[in-house]
Amino acid sequence: MAVPKSKITRSRGGQRRSHDALVAGNPAECNNCGELKRPHHVCGACGHYDDREIVAKADDIDYDEDAA
Ligand SMILES: [Zn+2]
Repeated sequence: MAVPKSKITRSRGGQRRSHDALVAGNPAECNNCGELKRPHHVCGACGHYDDREIVAKADDIDYDEDAA
């Protein structure tokens, strides 16, 4: 049931918001570089997943490949 905002005390609102806090995820260690990463996601630091390189790091890409 809707309750007018003016009827909700600061205490009541605070009690309701006591459950609003965000909780940290469940980080897992990357098998390749040891950096903490999200489970079931490509490692943000080295681009590896399941012991394979999925995403090449920016500084590993040779942009001048065709420039010669
Ligand atoms: Zn990694």
